[in-house]
Amino acid sequence: MSGSESTEVQTSDDMHIDIDKLIRDGVLTRDEGRALEHSQQSDSGGAMRMEALPETRGTEDSEDKDSVKEAATKHKRHWVRCTRVCNQRCTFCLDSMNHDGTMINTDSLKAYIALGRKMGRERLILSGGEASVHPEYIELIRYGREVGYEWIQTVTNGMMFSYKNFAQRCADAGLNEATVSMHGHTAYLQDRLTGTPGAFVTGIKGMKNLIATGKVVVNVDVVINKQNYKHLPDIIEYYYNMSIREFDLLHIIPFGRGFDEHRHSLFFDLNDAVPYFRRAFEWSKKPGVYLWTNRLPVPYLEDFERLIQDPHKLTYEFDGGRHNFESYLKRGLKPDCWGERCDYCFLDGACRSTMFPYRNHLEARTFPLVQLDSQQAWPSTEAQWVFEAQEPKRVILTARDHADADRALEKVGFNEAPISLKLDKGSDLSQVSTLARVDRVVVSSIEDANRALVGKTRLGDDVEVEVLLDREIASWLLARPSTLKSWGSRLILALQDHQYLSGSRDTDPEPETLRKLARQGARLKNVPECVAGGKTEPHDHHLLHASMLDRAGHLDLDKYVHHYIEHEYYAKSLRCNRCDRSDSCGGLHINYLRNHGFSILRPLDEAGQELADAGSFEDITSVLKKATEAHDKRQRKEVIGKHTPDARVRVALGDLRLGGDA
Ligand code: SF4
Ligand code: SF4
Repeated sequence: MSGSESTEVQTSDDMHIDIDKLIRDGVLTRDEGRALEHSQQSDSGGAMRMEALPETRGTEDSEDKDSVKEAATKHKRHWVRCTRVCNQRCTFCLDSMNHDGTMINTDSLKAYIALGRKMGRERLILSGGEASVHPEYIELIRYGREVGYEWIQTVTNGMMFSYKNFAQRCADAGLNEATVSMHGHTAYLQDRLTGTPGAFVTGIKGMKNLIATGKVVVNVDVVINKQNYKHLPDIIEYYYNMSIREFDLLHIIPFGRGFDEHRHSLFFDLNDAVPYFRRAFEWSKKPGVYLWTNRLPVPYLEDFERLIQDPHKLTYEFDGGRHNFESYLKRGLKPDCWGERCDYCFLDGACRSTMFPYRNHLEARTFPLVQLDSQQAWPSTEAQWVFEAQEPKRVILTARDHADADRALEKVGFNEAPISLKLDKGSDLSQVSTLARVDRVVVSSIEDANRALVGKTRLGDDVEVEVLLDREIASWLLARPSTLKSWGSRLILALQDHQYLSGSRDTDPEPETLRKLARQGARLKNVPECVAGGKTEPHDHHLLHASMLDRAGHLDLDKYVHHYIEHEYYAKSLRCNRCDRSDSCGGLHINYLRNHGFSILRPLDEAGQELADAGSFEDITSVLKKATEAHDKRQRKEVIGKHTPDARVRVALGDLRLGGDA
């Protein structure tokens, strides 16, 4: 944070938060301070983790489980770090650099706990270091209850609760939930991974004491790493037999002590883990059992798509390293973590593979696509200048109507770039053909498409009509094959991107509907060839929207992350690496895949025919072997390939994105 920036935040109810003081008191790190500042704008209330609400436990139906989980993630949380010390020394600790052996002052902690309530937070989460070693820990629980939190949770290694009296006093003070970090089901595993002899025995004893109070819900965090991934199904079974019903499976990430000191003993090839993962994930189908995954690359969740982490979790991840990412976007300084860690990093899709190229495009003025509104509100003339300095291949202009577009086009430069004109529903189309450089109109209703393609208002033959496809439009067209045929090849049907899963569930056509439309001759956009059953139009990737720029003309981090989630977060199956189109195909938007599953992706051969065993994910060893062979074959033939120097690694990282010019 630069010295010139204000660190005093005013909340909606006129409360002032002195972020600097919170940092000075040791309550927050600098990044946490910045995250708090931004959470005041988004009111997100902190990171998502295992948060099933107690009154809905025991639900058996998958749909119900989804709604329980969704409700849980909406619970506004207030994370409070109580200590900078821990009584374990976990090999993969992400927080070790913050440990200086001190307890945070109780008055400062109470002030911060009270602040969370004033900010409308409902759930207090006491964490550390190890929170339970704070000398006033029980008083902090009691105080949380006093200021009105609905639910008080702690994140702990469980050791302190091995003292029965302590566990009971915490429960009596108002503790509702304990999330216990247990990375093994044996003393050998747990003690070794936590660097603490006795960690397993005391942790288990602590869990049993908490359960025995009858007041505290106990659940388990597992950090998945090289030493325990083969035991993951057994670990879940062990704790299930102890009556634990909620598990958060956290994939090891290349930060902190784990990467610096124990890389070789903790990091592993995810492909080797697939059979164990699949057995572990089966537990999520058991009535009353809730599994959450954390930072696990999405292709490894094929057939278990309900376990894919909400894409909005990315906003918290970027918040956690805000100074790094903003330094990169504003000054071009690569994040501290950049380098060999990137190949292991769950943020690669959003960070190195997309954010880096975005900045490169902005600097080099080479964004292939730019989008602006006719009434674009510029944060500054500098931002406008940076935007207009781009040399795009296409401009997307959003306008109210023809006259509005006409006025805007007088100002839009970009040399000779063709223009896609996105008009409000029901706009007058009669004059659109007269607008210079407009070779495509984008509409969102059948009526507008009809007016653009037939009758008196028909646009010239050189103007294409892109229809934003939804279920209703798709059904209407499918029921009228002759209309679809008469509208001809100027019509493009674009599957839409959705920021939320519910958007896809509520409005997107089914994969089978897309295929039927393609069979009837429709040109589909944003749909991979295997789903359409034939050639399709490319997606508008690498698009700079004017609103993404800040006053200085840099990419605004928050706006970039939201743009990524909505428009760039595409994914593919592990099986895709067998597909002849793999190197040029970006897959499907994450929310369409969460909705319909990866199984709709069916690898193709050179002729575009589905491979005979395209859909099987059961025999994963053979899938991966064939994927490697197919990839090697393509590499030998030097077919594109440049984007993915090692496609196995890229697939392992998940969120495959093209344009890897970072
Ligand atoms: S991908 Fe980004 S966040 Fe991850 S290690 Fe590389 S620079 Fe850091
Ligand atoms: S790479 Fe995957 S998503 Fe793309 S066409 Fe092939 S199977 Fe389909």
